[in-house]
Amino acid sequence: MADASDSQSNPPVDPAPSGPDGERKLLRLPDLDRLIGLLRARGFRVIGPTVRDATIMLGDIESAAQLPSGWAERVEAGFYRVERRDDAACFAHRTSPESAKRHLFPPAQKLWRADGSEDHPQPVVEDRSTAPRLAFLGLHACDLAAIAVQDKVFMGGAYVDHVYATHRRGALIIAVQCTSSAPTCFCDSMGTGPHLDGGCDLGMTELIEGGEPVYVVHTGSEEGAQLLAGLAPPPASHAQVVAAEQLVAEAAAHQKRRMQTEGIKDLFYQNYENPRWEEVARRCLTCANCTMVCPTCFCANIEDGTDLSGRLAERRRRWDSCYTLDFSYIHGGSVRYSPMSRYRQWLTHKLATWIDQFGTSGCVGCGRCIVWCPVGIDLTEEVAALRMSARAS
Ligand code: SF4
Ligand code: SF4
Repeated sequence: MADASDSQSNPPVDPAPSGPDGERKLLRLPDLDRLIGLLRARGFRVIGPTVRDATIMLGDIESAAQLPSGWAERVEAGFYRVERRDDAACFAHRTSPESAKRHLFPPAQKLWRADGSEDHPQPVVEDRSTAPRLAFLGLHACDLAAIAVQDKVFMGGAYVDHVYATHRRGALIIAVQCTSSAPTCFCDSMGTGPHLDGGCDLGMTELIEGGEPVYVVHTGSEEGAQLLAGLAPPPASHAQVVAAEQLVAEAAAHQKRRMQTEGIKDLFYQNYENPRWEEVARRCLTCANCTMVCPTCFCANIEDGTDLSGRLAERRRRWDSCYTLDFSYIHGGSVRYSPMSRYRQWLTHKLATWIDQFGTSGCVGCGRCIVWCPVGIDLTEEVAALRMSARAS
């Protein structure tokens, strides 16, 4: 993933792209069903897109029949609907409120428990080593970029988060290149998509032929190559390979939103007192939706509790957000009391201090926070307005 300070475009279309294995293969929907079966037979828990609660969510899937075939999302700032397509595409989702984060860094996680009725009670740390390996199907380039960001947060320093590391190290990823962009996507300007650039075991591009989906597939790892070999697929034709790359290039070219990342750290560091913060804070409900749906946000709280008898004690970790008053509560009160200070904290961390902390932007341009903000606050618009305001002052 590119550093936010050096925005880049997607590579130009190569008329005969060569993947790590040098040749693209072709899968059809029944092959995806076999692939899911193969993964399950090998003990994987398969996580893929599926329609649930009138939304395309990431959930457990047992067959290709559970994929959102023929469904697409219609989105804008503060707006989300699923609606029927006139073809059977399975991977037209872009802005699901869920991402791989929910499975690699679960929203609620028991860390340890202790039983006081024992002679010498010791905390028993949750054993995650027996959890099934996760196989993600249908993640997009921005999702992989978000996983790379969380890898740095949870595994890149001196202290490794064992919950995350256990799920992540065993994970297998079958990614899908986006062949169209939602109006809220801006991954192209962040250098994080829609073109897949490594980070997956298999990479697919969905084409529609006669209303039915077919998949041009390349391998990204030895394990991916072995899986694909188990399906014995035919090679994709040159025309299919070119069509796939062309669609991805068009998806990038048609993105309506962009983030201007040049000098973005200085922009934030020099504008703590910019009046634009007050303006956006008048609209912000501090509901924390943006942080919940963001695939890179990682704030969490630790809670200790006992049962009513006081015999059993547990420590749990739960997602939290820099938008809650309690999150910055220190002795005597909250550090960030006003909505303005909380919105400013979120955006400044995401786009500026994150770069100092982890060497990368905290934003991958997925647009989820724009779609799922109930009042349609758009961070690309806020950054542009901050730039304008800074220039005028
Ligand atoms: S920016 Fe939107 S989603 Fe985020 S806290 Fe404010 S109102 Fe909620
Ligand atoms: S800040 Fe918004 S656009 Fe950026 S990664 Fe998070 S949810 Fe996606």
